[in-house]
Amino acid sequence: MPMPTPDESPQLSAIDYRQLLDEVGAFVYTTDAHGQYTYANQLVLELLGNPPLQAILGKSFTDFVDIGEAGATLRETDLRVLRDGETIAREETNYIHATGESLTYWSIKKPLRGADGAIVGMLGISHDITAKKRLEDKVRQQKELLDAVLDNIPGLVYMKGANRRFLYANQHLAKMFGRPVDQIVGRLDSELMPPDVADAFWQKDLHMLATGEHYAGRESMFDAAGHLRQFWSVVVPWSGYDGMPALIGLITDITELQRLKDELQRQAHTDSLTGVANRRSFFERAEHEFAHSRRHGAPLSLIAVDVDHFKQINDEHGHPVGDLVLQGFVQCCLDQLRAQALCARTGGEEFCILLPGVPADAAQAIAERIRTAVAAACLSPEHPALRVTASFGVTGLGPADPHFGAVYSRADRALYTAKQQGRNCSCLHHVSEIATSP
Ligand code: GH3
Ligand code: MG
Ligand code: MG
Repeated sequence: MPMPTPDESPQLSAIDYRQLLDEVGAFVYTTDAHGQYTYANQLVLELLGNPPLQAILGKSFTDFVDIGEAGATLRETDLRVLRDGETIAREETNYIHATGESLTYWSIKKPLRGADGAIVGMLGISHDITAKKRLEDKVRQQKELLDAVLDNIPGLVYMKGANRRFLYANQHLAKMFGRPVDQIVGRLDSELMPPDVADAFWQKDLHMLATGEHYAGRESMFDAAGHLRQFWSVVVPWSGYDGMPALIGLITDITELQRLKDELQRQAHTDSLTGVANRRSFFERAEHEFAHSRRHGAPLSLIAVDVDHFKQINDEHGHPVGDLVLQGFVQCCLDQLRAQALCARTGGEEFCILLPGVPADAAQAIAERIRTAVAAACLSPEHPALRVTASFGVTGLGPADPHFGAVYSRADRALYTAKQQGRNCSCLHHVSEIATSP
């Protein structure tokens, strides 16, 4: 059948147009120059409580709807259309008396003009977007709730896709990276961290994505301010975000905890008066060095030291001065030692010096250096005349020594010999021979 030409197309009557406008699924109305209805389609009439069209002609929207502006007869937007000739497209929320509901519309209002161009009325078309708006509000509220939770837990939270790009980052993570969240989401991990660090994380990530295994472990990373921070990191694979596999990470900053742990560990290994290793830590390290020297056939020497007549120093000058003397004595020892040497306080005024890689003869030379320095030093500035001496027992690792205890016993016997020989001297107990000096 041939299409009718425009001239032949059937003419719609005014009734037809009204039926058409009742079917468009939007609120359609016209007003006169005073904002009073000249036409409203079926949807508008239903909204106003279903009066017949005749009943609303000559009345305005505000006769039916509370717009919250006391005394106003025309809405501000209607005025802008009718008075200023503006076309307005915007969201509006109205309280509808007839239903007691608040409804939100997307409204377009246009001036209608007469043949002379003067504004004679207004055409309004509105779509009810209440349901969409409520859904949007709900989604926004849920997002705000989730953000509030994730931004307020004391941890760094992120989600990373299988394409190495971040899908989510909370505020704590953003702070760590030193950039806002929107500059993290969508970025590759290698854009946010040094490439080698990002690659190392990615290797672990790949393993989790492939196996579905969880990860929990300690990690360290520089923060935006350049400080090395310690983290406890838990990563869980998750499949579901847009059907793409992803990883959810929860990182706890344990820098302070780790610092406290390190400090406690240091305290547990350190003598609080002198700052050198304590007895327990000394024997742990000595056993280790003993095994190492055995394995590599390397020399290892030990000097056992005891301050001479220390009780007398306490008795004559008081305990606090005795403490100062012990501190000064340790400093004197350290001044004569290299970094590899381990100086430890193994008792009240008894010390041990472990010398990895040093043969016994060289160890005795070191003992002599310390002995001479101590004897010449003023260890208590408030008592310039006070002189302190110490006795030294020296020995080296012997081929038959079954454990470090054997070396220690020999050094202790050498120390006893030094005491017997008049103090302020060092005594070397070789495995096979005994030599003393001076
Ligand atoms: P010797 O030459 O035979 O070693 O005599 P000594 O007096 O040094 O030996 P002794 O073992 O009789 O005395 C050690 C003293 O060290 C006794 C103790 O009160 C003192 N002492 C132990 N620990 C500390 C300490 O932390 N501070 C002070 N001031 N004195 C301590
Ligand atoms: Mg003693
Ligand atoms: Mg002593």
